[in-house]
Amino acid sequence: SPSLVWFRDDLRVADHPALAVAAERGEPIVALYVLDEESRGIRPLGEAAKWWLHASLLSLQAKLDELGGKLVLRRGAAADIVPALAEELDAGLVVWNRRYGGPERDVDTAIKSALREAGRVVHSMPGSLLIEPWEVSTGEDKPYRVYSPFFNALTERFKREPPRDPIAVPAKLTKPRGSAVPASDELDDWGLLPTRDWGEGLAEIWTPGEDAAHERMEQFLADDVSGYSDDRDFPGHDATSRLSPRLRWGELSSPQVWAAARGHTGKGASTFRNELAWRDFAWHTLFYSPDLHRVSWREEYEKFPWPRLKPSQLKAWQRGATGIPLVDAGMRQLWHHGWMHNRSRMVTASFLIKHLLIDWRHGEEWFWDTLVDADAANNPFNWQWVAGSGVDAAPYFRIFNPERQADKFDPEGAYVKLWVPEAGSDDYPDPIVDLKEGRERALAAWEQVRR
Ligand code: FAD
Repeated sequence: SPSLVWFRDDLRVADHPALAVAAERGEPIVALYVLDEESRGIRPLGEAAKWWLHASLLSLQAKLDELGGKLVLRRGAAADIVPALAEELDAGLVVWNRRYGGPERDVDTAIKSALREAGRVVHSMPGSLLIEPWEVSTGEDKPYRVYSPFFNALTERFKREPPRDPIAVPAKLTKPRGSAVPASDELDDWGLLPTRDWGEGLAEIWTPGEDAAHERMEQFLADDVSGYSDDRDFPGHDATSRLSPRLRWGELSSPQVWAAARGHTGKGASTFRNELAWRDFAWHTLFYSPDLHRVSWREEYEKFPWPRLKPSQLKAWQRGATGIPLVDAGMRQLWHHGWMHNRSRMVTASFLIKHLLIDWRHGEEWFWDTLVDADAANNPFNWQWVAGSGVDAAPYFRIFNPERQADKFDPEGAYVKLWVPEAGSDDYPDPIVDLKEGRERALAAWEQVRR
């Protein structure tokens, strides 16, 4: 009786606990991916994410074929598809790596119960995090609200129990014989690719898929990690790993990256591991606050007096036409490559929320739609961090001045020149807001919440 392995945010064959369990069982394997746009509460993918998913599924399909397996694609509500396919196959095992978002957990729990009621064996495995969100907690058994104690707890735990060593790719898979292989949708029929020619910009710098992910990781660790802690804040230096979409889609697991970085000593490697752990902190937070993209984590911020939205200002920000060079550079990089440097993410987000007084949810939504690494935890977590409403957040009165940020982090102006070559010329628009006035307005609004 075959094993059914349900792939989700883990589009890889190496270090894949669920696939490994199925391979060890020795029976034929059917791999499944479900495009679920129907289950309640599951956030529809953004455009850039769909572009990535299309290419990454192609790569997974090829990898599984190479190993002798088979990827079945189905579209619809997972709660209908997974039990029905298990029935069709008379599966002896159904196995997946866990998901940690609220609606995803509800779906998975319901499916697990249905399968068990039908007498099937089901396993869910620790997926792509360094540590399961519930495995660390404060002395009072609560989730962490501050990063450093979270990181310390993680480090302490790793002394006792290090993250798993990456699991090898199964040597060989077998698929069910002949007509027992279930039918699959054609990936092209899913219409994941954008209708405008946006994909070209994305393809300029990205090759989705597991092989390219490993190549990039190795290249970064060999060439750049030693300088990471000094260079990572400069958007014009290509000094960060760009592994975020790889981690988002699970082409690499975070234990794999952690283990690979373990071979490197020095400040760069330890700062890098610290950043990786922020991702776990964001997921720890989402696990306990599943509405993170909708609701301010600090309740009092729900009363923040956002003025009526000016759509033209939001649009100017989205298009990189605010008249503030560093902000425009970041927003154009995002539009063109589906990715933005962390420093520019902080500056553009702060500008939207504070200088334009636009609700962070509008910005989060735009990033969700345009980032190839759009992540259900990292994105709202970081937006709320900038807004001041989140966990361990920057205090509201800390308002990035985008001009000073440019002086400090783009001193030669290379980043701005690359993305906004017309800055400083007559063709470049005046700022849509006066930075000083915007700052004062933001501080006054914040005073209202504090009172
Ligand atoms: P590196 O500097 O090489 O870091 C390595 C890895 O550590 C990253 O790939 C990422 O997985 C993790 N990491 C680094 N910084 C953070 C952080 N602040 N929070 C959580 N994890 C982190 N990251 C996403 O992956 N998806 C998002 O949707 C996302 N939205 C963001 C929105 C805003 C407003 C801000 C300020 C940050 C956001 N980030 C997001 C975090 C961070 O900017 C990106 O992870 C990072 O820029 C990705 O580039 P990199 O892989 O080269 O990072």
